[in-house]
Amino acid sequence: MDHRPASPADSESESDSSGFRFHKDFASQDGDIILAARDSTCFFRVHSFVLKTTSAWFRACLSLPQDQKKPLDIIYMDEDEATLEMLLIMICGLPLPVIEDYDTFDKLIFSAEKYEMLGPISILRLLVMTPGPLLGQPFRLYAIASRYGWKEEARFASTQTLTHNLHDPEIRPLLRRLSTDALLELSDLHYNRKIALRERLNKPPFVASDNAAQSTCNTCHFTIDYHTWRELKFRIAQEMETRPSGDSIDIGLTEWPEAKACWIARCPNRNCARALYDEEPTRKAIRDVIAELGDSI
Ligand SMILES: [Zn+2]
Repeated sequence: MDHRPASPADSESESDSSGFRFHKDFASQDGDIILAARDSTCFFRVHSFVLKTTSAWFRACLSLPQDQKKPLDIIYMDEDEATLEMLLIMICGLPLPVIEDYDTFDKLIFSAEKYEMLGPISILRLLVMTPGPLLGQPFRLYAIASRYGWKEEARFASTQTLTHNLHDPEIRPLLRRLSTDALLELSDLHYNRKIALRERLNKPPFVASDNAAQSTCNTCHFTIDYHTWRELKFRIAQEMETRPSGDSIDIGLTEWPEAKACWIARCPNRNCARALYDEEPTRKAIRDVIAELGDSI
């Protein structure tokens, strides 16, 4: 940023004789200061009062002694035209267009933070949780929320990431945006769900399938083997690896060969032939256990 004498101070129109193009919403002669977008692609005439009341950075900057006799200053900004336009729209209370993508959002929040504009920051914070183009991108939201200490939004985003595998190569560029602490917290969430579910499926009401001791049928005391349950648990654990939300497991309990094998498993004593697992109670118990797992950072 620098200050230079403003040659377009007397411009009457949006694009005056000097060739300076003013933004149509920020061309009023009432404005006492001019902001230029990066590369001077567009000029914005604004009120210094608005800048000073909405930005601690501008307040400090514009409080420096000014030469009253000088024509309007132009402040040359680092921001591109679109970013500067959105920032000024927000601080001037004009209708805000839809922010279509996170790249635009990231530039805005970066500049709002740089200029210490608490109003735009609070608007942007609301926008990330509002139905629209920004929703449904949990890793981008998590990056922003953890960067700015928005705890509730970070927790919400962390839950949404559970339908993704952190080891998916497509996710890697998104993870690179995170601080080490934020990445570790997310990694712990995904990992802990898998471990907790695996441990929980070895405890009642589920049968113990991994101990060496022989099991016997509750009805006829015939020796039985719970290998079908062991294999189903392994399949569930595999599913949790790729989708730690566990929301695909219920369908798997209908479709997986390992599940079907469980639901038809019987006591090998032909005179007994008791079903080894009650399908519906078992499915419900698995659903309940998944629902109890921690689902946010
Ligand atoms: Zn039996």
